[in-house]
Amino acid sequence: MPLIAKRLQAVRPSQTKAMTAAATALKEKGIDVIALSQGEPDFDTPEAVQNAGIAAIRNGRTRYTPVAGVKPLREAIREKLARDNGLDCDIDQITVGCGAKQVVFNALFASLDPGDEVIIPTPCWVSYPDMVRLAGGEPVLVECHEHFGFKLKPEDLDAAITPRTKWLMLNSPNNPTGAVYSKAELAALAVILRRQDHVHVLADDIYEKLVYGVRFATMAEAAPDLIDRTVTVNGVSKSSAMTGWRLGYGAGPKDLIKAMNTIQGQTSSHTSSISQYAAIEAIGGKQDYITDFISDFRKRRDLVVEKINEAEGLRCRTPDGAFYVFVNCAGVIGKVTPQGKMIDTDMDFAMYLLEQFGVAVVPGSGFMASPYIRISYAASIEDLQHACGRILAACEALS
Ligand code: PLP
Repeated sequence: MPLIAKRLQAVRPSQTKAMTAAATALKEKGIDVIALSQGEPDFDTPEAVQNAGIAAIRNGRTRYTPVAGVKPLREAIREKLARDNGLDCDIDQITVGCGAKQVVFNALFASLDPGDEVIIPTPCWVSYPDMVRLAGGEPVLVECHEHFGFKLKPEDLDAAITPRTKWLMLNSPNNPTGAVYSKAELAALAVILRRQDHVHVLADDIYEKLVYGVRFATMAEAAPDLIDRTVTVNGVSKSSAMTGWRLGYGAGPKDLIKAMNTIQGQTSSHTSSISQYAAIEAIGGKQDYITDFISDFRKRRDLVVEKINEAEGLRCRTPDGAFYVFVNCAGVIGKVTPQGKMIDTDMDFAMYLLEQFGVAVVPGSGFMASPYIRISYAASIEDLQHACGRILAACEALS
């Protein structure tokens, strides 16, 4: 009898983590690698938040907490959702978990029965399809074309809905494309959802704060009448440079939140008490640092977009949010490397960049979209300049 459960057969390890691990392994061998594969800000956690974490330790906030999270944190989240997103919810409609990742997983695990379908617009975050499969559901991938800004069109949503559809997953700003849905675009999707009252929306807003010159909107704000069918997920990883603290949250219908808490109560219990107290500062305290994050990211984005569009065989749009550039690499497919290897796929191109030029990126196949590569610009300007120079040289060397 095999040790590993059958349900794991359909689940792939994250390609983002795999590329980052491959880059780290080369670095450990002394090879000069610039990693642009990581999905985390390269900034330190802001000092006031660090201090709140240290104070939590010193003040003995080191014990088990309620499963849904400590009350002052859920209160800070309630106020944040009202202030930033115009959402009105009770404290028992809010749950806190080990990152937005666990909150998304808990929502799916709490709601999916075998055969239930989840619409995932692609390109999408690597984890969504696998999380759906792990929770027993069926991912239904809906392609969002580059020439429509990688955004879901209402008619494509309409066509994808079946009687088994339970969720639409929306992620704006998007990983990997950086696409940001306007309030009007969300309202147009809501017109379809209004006619299909068995479909729920999971809005993953983890990159909310990282937008460049456009206004962020979330589905529950664009369509307040759908609030009973919407779960809004967010966290502190990207907005407050707190990826390692593992804290995310969700707000939604009471019965679903209660079911999510039941799962969490039997698995992780809750995220770290120290992270919870630090997050009160991150969510409720001054957030001046975000302006600096945005201005740094914007400069880096502009540099990468300009350079990549100079490379032979590559082209990319200027993304409105997050910290990724999603590069179309159709122009290098079919070319041959100086080592005599044919580039057949975006994975081949990513491996060529890593092995021959020391630049780690993630192939589009990991995000259900090919042929693309995702470049994370959460790196220093110097590293980005060097990396782009190497990518240009890599493209030039192909024949
Ligand atoms: N959602 C999206 C779209 C992401 O890209 C990520 C991280 O890369 C997460 C959620 C996970 O966030 P957290 O660190 O809060 O678990």
